Amino acid sequence: MADAVKKIALLGASGSIGGSTLDIVARFPERYEIVALGGGRNLEILARQAERFRPGLVAVQEPEGARELARRLKHRGLKIPVLAGSEGALAVATCPEADLLVAAMVGAVGLEPACAALQAGKDVALANKESMVMAGRLLNRLAAENGARILPLDSEHSAIWQALNGEGRGGVKKLILTASGGPFREFTLRQMAAVTPEQALKHPRWDMGPKITIDSATMMNKALEIIEARWLFEIPADRIEVLVHPQSIVHSLVEYVDGSVLAQLGLPDMRLPIAYALGAPERLHLDLPKLDLAEIGRLDFFPADDERFPALALVRRALGMGDSGAIALNAANEVAVERFRAHEIGFLEIAATVAAVLDEISACEFETLEEILECDRMVRERLGRGRKKGTDLSAE
Ligand code: MG
Repeated sequence: MADAVKKIALLGASGSIGGSTLDIVARFPERYEIVALGGGRNLEILARQAERFRPGLVAVQEPEGARELARRLKHRGLKIPVLAGSEGALAVATCPEADLLVAAMVGAVGLEPACAALQAGKDVALANKESMVMAGRLLNRLAAENGARILPLDSEHSAIWQALNGEGRGGVKKLILTASGGPFREFTLRQMAAVTPEQALKHPRWDMGPKITIDSATMMNKALEIIEARWLFEIPADRIEVLVHPQSIVHSLVEYVDGSVLAQLGLPDMRLPIAYALGAPERLHLDLPKLDLAEIGRLDFFPADDERFPALALVRRALGMGDSGAIALNAANEVAVERFRAHEIGFLEIAATVAAVLDEISACEFETLEEILECDRMVRERLGRGRKKGTDLSAE
């Protein structure tokens, strides 16, 4: 296997995880090949990526974008089919040559392609946490039925995967997800009430797309990651905790029944977890800046405060309601983040929107993708905002 070239389909190519994935692929041309690429609206980035990696298929969000990209590729002497919308995303996800899908889209739109890839027996390296939040049980079942694996790309989940390596699951007492705390870690509720989207979009440690950056500021990102970890590692959510760690060096920890705690450390660079997932079970030789603990000097840890960051309490409530709770939390948050970015609601109203939706819906469990998508649709409609037409393939 070490000699075979791993063929990769990538969705979310023009976003930050997509770019980091291509950086790793470019470093190891003898090991990895990009066979299909999907991105959003940034046609010039996609054109450059297609020219560099020569995939057999490219997908974009809009039909006009597809025509324009095909024209730009032709101008570069490339004859690559360009598809659009959800049809394009599914074609990338199920591209026959691919061994693995890197799922790096943002939001609920990532769910259908992830399901389709697993159904086609492909491993999925998952950065799109929303799909695991909405449909963790379904994705795990599809993976098991089709002999496929779901590999974590999220830095916290990669850290836990690494800290669990070689250990029996019976020895695990709890998982501890670290959180940087975002830009408003020390803000009072009063200060948070006045926060603008521009302030929330400045993350102190990680360079990420806007949706996840806002989620980090509200700590909804960590709430979603609790659900993601619950399904990825099949551990009850009451054994998953959050620890605030502003330096983002310790990426997460596993506490064992004997009291030992194992952690994974590294500089905050998404290329590390991506390389771990692409290389597993081997590690890749990466020539990147190295962690220097003596230079960093100190690592701080604080308990998470779910009064100032109600997302952390809301996720416990949502989990208590089962599948419909997790889907509603995710959908309401996506709608609220869009509204906050559009200056339609205040920062604290993001969590308030989610809380109001959880008050209204009833607890349900779902078996099928259709039921899950229907619940997602219902929540968005209740908030007066249906899912946008077309599929946003980008990580922005
Ligand atoms: Mg993360």
